[in-house]
Amino acid sequence: MAITFEQACRTILDNLSALDREECLLDDCYGRALAQAVTAPRDMPLWHNSAMDGYALRSGDCAGGDTSLKINGCVLAGDAPGVELESGCALRIMTGAPVPTGADTIIPFEEAQLGEGVLLVQQPIKPGNHVRLRGEDVAAGDTVLSAGTRLRPQEIGMLASLGFDRVSVHHRPRVAILSTGDELVAPGQALQPGQISDGNSAAMAAALREAGAVPISLGICKDNQDALLRALSALPQIDALITSAGISAGERDLVRPVLEELGWQELFWKVKVKPGYPTAFGLLDEKPVFCLPGNPVSALMIFEQMVRPALLKMSGHQEVMPPMLKAVIKDDITKKPGRLGLIRVCVSFEEGRLVACSAGVQQSGVLSTSLRANGVAYLLEESCGVEVGDVVEVRVMDEFV
Ligand code: AMP
Ligand code: MG
Repeated sequence: MAITFEQACRTILDNLSALDREECLLDDCYGRALAQAVTAPRDMPLWHNSAMDGYALRSGDCAGGDTSLKINGCVLAGDAPGVELESGCALRIMTGAPVPTGADTIIPFEEAQLGEGVLLVQQPIKPGNHVRLRGEDVAAGDTVLSAGTRLRPQEIGMLASLGFDRVSVHHRPRVAILSTGDELVAPGQALQPGQISDGNSAAMAAALREAGAVPISLGICKDNQDALLRALSALPQIDALITSAGISAGERDLVRPVLEELGWQELFWKVKVKPGYPTAFGLLDEKPVFCLPGNPVSALMIFEQMVRPALLKMSGHQEVMPPMLKAVIKDDITKKPGRLGLIRVCVSFEEGRLVACSAGVQQSGVLSTSLRANGVAYLLEESCGVEVGDVVEVRVMDEFV
């Protein structure tokens, strides 16, 4: 019995958990999820410091206006805090340098009036100008990042600035990929009549890398019970397995029977979605196994919509799906009711509104349409399609073009 797309997604996520943690150098953390919250071990900045190149002074010295302050030194970034500023004097100060004891305000060079060895201040001046206060950015003890946060450059910069050279993240999922089909040969090899190049292994490997996982290619397996048994019973150390093709009702669709023979626990087969109807999912030795359809369009679509969120959850991410947005559709699109329609679209902004155009022919044999698409529109299971001007839900998979 086919289940709904939502049920399939929920079944997958409910049967997975985050992988173990490891300490990881910041250099290898980009895109990964924090395994535990991070608390600031110290204030940032660690001392009051200047936000400008200029002069540090005591605002109280200039309360009466028309003041002349003797410039008697300079503080640089890297100087230890605690330099004393005598009353009636000013110090040259560089950006990032500790504000001298006694000083409470900065006049930038470009606003300063100078006399012979003195700083001339005509107006009373407010305390606190161009001073970055200790702890104003982050205070010691603050929770700066919560568990599950995706580490982008700004999070990595924050961690480094707080002095961390490594953090706790979840393991990257190691995912085996097996392409099945008598017709397949590896790209680069000459084709005999009836053969096609295996497009899925390479696409899956790239999609896995994009999702932060480690692809392990098992190559191509013939549609042959013994060969499949051999391939699937000698899996390397992995966290998940992806197979492509051989899962419909065809004569040589042997992936599920072989997995059954190996004792997998099938959690679903057939999903009310187009493309991707024959998708199957189960657990083999407690490891998730995603059986994707052979068509490269279907395989990649189901990867993006179902496998990627699963891998993100295994990697410890809090957010596993791109947000669902509303867009105005700019093409009529018809569909048969009964399955959720995943339509490859081009999403962009037009006069401040998000709009989506069909990226081209939607048949699952047409891979070139995917080259133009940057998002997927969700057309409800029971709908017969949409008309120009209707509002549809879209997920943007790539950055806007
Ligand atoms: P199947 O799921 O085995 O019925 O395959 C469905 C379609 O996808 C057929 O046209 C296959 O030739 C094609 N196909 C299967 N595997 C691949 C692959 N790895 N690369 C490209 N096309 C494939
Ligand atoms: Mg086949």
